[in-house]
Amino acid sequence: MIELRSPQEIEQMKAAGEFVSRTLAALKERAAVGVNLLELNALAHDLIRERGATSCYLDYAPSFGSGPFGHVLCTSVNDAVLHGLPHDYRLRDGDLLTVDFAVAVDGWVADAAISFVVGTPRPEDLELIEITERALAAGIAAAVVGNKTGDISYAIGRVAKDAGLKVNVEFGGHGVGKTMHGEPFVANDGRPGRGFPLRPGLVIAIEPWFMRGTDKLTMDQDGWTLRSANGSRTAHSEHTVAVTADGPLVLTRPRD
Ligand code: MG
Repeated sequence: MIELRSPQEIEQMKAAGEFVSRTLAALKERAAVGVNLLELNALAHDLIRERGATSCYLDYAPSFGSGPFGHVLCTSVNDAVLHGLPHDYRLRDGDLLTVDFAVAVDGWVADAAISFVVGTPRPEDLELIEITERALAAGIAAAVVGNKTGDISYAIGRVAKDAGLKVNVEFGGHGVGKTMHGEPFVANDGRPGRGFPLRPGLVIAIEPWFMRGTDKLTMDQDGWTLRSANGSRTAHSEHTVAVTADGPLVLTRPRD
């Protein structure tokens, strides 16, 4: 079922969005060469406790994973792209790290992800990150009343294809509300004019993630971490966005 939120409810959802955005900024600041992924998870957990927030990941046990997840953060390094299970790994110079973070504050969920390079970047990694950010911006720009979910998918997919990338449509954006994953599904490629109509009060996570030279994934033995099948590096950018009569409202937008 697709639920629409009142303007008052969207106002209440801002607290979760603000906390997710602030936590991702703190994680990016802490992530450096030599820092362990488990330290980043611990930092996020401390911030969750301080804020009185609830992790959406800790007890998460969907059909595709071997749950419960047991951590509060997804950390995906280099060829890992989605659902990276934090483990005992110290970041190395040039690692491309994605952190994906979702919590509930006062019962409302926000979900966002950023990719960045630790230490000395490779130009091609910065380019891939920039493509996902541009695709995210295009998806958000299409999240307007009168459009359909397919218009968001199409906008994202076009940025990827213009950049010569293939798009995997198994995992993508989703409705966000009292829980992390609701309807509608928002694939990272699709046909304009198709899908669910975007109405005021629809809140969705939009999350382009791309790999080079493949649209296939492999799963680690941990039962969670998804990697590019060809070992290429990957990137992922995500925001939680409310469709409103005044246009898209990015609930997880960092403040200056
Ligand atoms: Mg997410």
